[in-house]
Amino acid sequence: MKSNRISVDGVKFLPAIIDGNVDVLQNPNFIIVKRSWQPDQEAQSCPLCKVKFGGLKRRHHCRQCGHVVCNKCCNVKIPLPQLAIEEPEKICESCQPVTAAVTRSRSHLASMQLQSAVELSGMCKSSVNLTKVFEYGGFHTLLAQSKVHLDTPNMNIMTHIISALHTLSTCEPVQDFMVDTGIIRAICQVLDKVPGDKEQILLDGISSLVIYCKSKRFLPKVLEAGYLQVVLRLCCNTSDTVAVLSVSTLSLLVEDPSTHTAIIDGDKAALQRILKLAAAENPQMQAVALKCLNYLSMGSDWNKHRIIQEDFTAGKPMKTALQTETFNMQVWANAACLVANLATSAEDQAPLSDCLDCLVRLLKSDMTNVDLLSHVTRGLANFAKFPQNSSTVGTVLPTLVSKCLNHTDETISKHALRAILHLLVNQSDNTITELLIEGASEVFKNIARNLDMTDAMFKVLQDLCPDMARPL
Ligand SMILES: [Zn+2]
Ligand SMILES: [Zn+2]
Repeated sequence: MKSNRISVDGVKFLPAIIDGNVDVLQNPNFIIVKRSWQPDQEAQSCPLCKVKFGGLKRRHHCRQCGHVVCNKCCNVKIPLPQLAIEEPEKICESCQPVTAAVTRSRSHLASMQLQSAVELSGMCKSSVNLTKVFEYGGFHTLLAQSKVHLDTPNMNIMTHIISALHTLSTCEPVQDFMVDTGIIRAICQVLDKVPGDKEQILLDGISSLVIYCKSKRFLPKVLEAGYLQVVLRLCCNTSDTVAVLSVSTLSLLVEDPSTHTAIIDGDKAALQRILKLAAAENPQMQAVALKCLNYLSMGSDWNKHRIIQEDFTAGKPMKTALQTETFNMQVWANAACLVANLATSAEDQAPLSDCLDCLVRLLKSDMTNVDLLSHVTRGLANFAKFPQNSSTVGTVLPTLVSKCLNHTDETISKHALRAILHLLVNQSDNTITELLIEGASEVFKNIARNLDMTDAMFKVLQDLCPDMARPL
């Protein structure tokens, strides 16, 4: 693989290049291409202790970085299997921590492998050592070992490896390099296979992938790695923290419409699982699960139909969310938004009648939250389009006039006007009688004020009866 220089906090470095461009996830015994040696004559003094060469001060080459250093700064000898050097060789003090940890990872002893993971994880936390972790193969080792230890029962080692990969994922300049090398695939595999009770590993893994899901550049790679199925499963983890974090990640994944088919039609249980979480006891979980469903409800009528079908099978969690007292206004707002989106589906009006009742009750309550009111009014306007809902929506006509039509929020007043116009069409006598009592003038004022609406009406009328005609 071609390696380009990366700069972290002003320090430029060249990540290790793997011999033969092999995939380190498949080849834990990968070999790193040796760095070229610095010519003797270029070095006048030791770069580490600054002592001048010449006379008694001899020059030594560090087998890892290839720099010329003095004897005192290059007195450690270790085998370097990662460089295809089995006999102990001299390395300098600067390369020693990362190089020794990489060497230890190749040991057959679990205690050595654990020490290696602990050391590398510690070095990832300081920006001074972080660059060396990339230069001398520490990062590649973490990736390779994440795969190796999936097949061994040693989750202690895995905890340190995933913690290290999480720390590295927060470092923006190295993200592209890590994604190209396979970090997303590696973490996905771990999350897929690790036992469900390894909370710390799961949390670190999911938190790392959240970072990549938030980037438009990396999101396709996350989906390509099969993360959607992994997240869907983790949403039902027994740990509340893991489950909530998983559902939050899912809400990032569903922002991409290409995921919708997989959830709606692919995994049969997926949709039902998300719906059940929408009625969970934890309001934070409820709000995020509803947010996921909102994205899904923005697609085709088929998608809406499937959500409504599954809602019925899952015990009507949408209705539950709208009926349960909540201190988290986001739960009601998201639930009302979902119902409003679904209400446009002509063939599913009957199974939604419970939800329509909930919107009616919410509008009549003393609720004033603008977001919630906006979704409730939009939902009522969408329902009012269908004649079978006229009598139910008609019961809140006075409230639509008094509470919504003159609302300072323009969206609310427009949706209210839309609901009233639908009622006028579908149930004209009752609506006119009611409006004459409750404030027909308010309706006309609103029609006059809503220029885009009057324009649309003029356009329709003009099509029906043009203002010019040929002579007879
Ligand atoms: Zn020195
Ligand atoms: Zn060195």
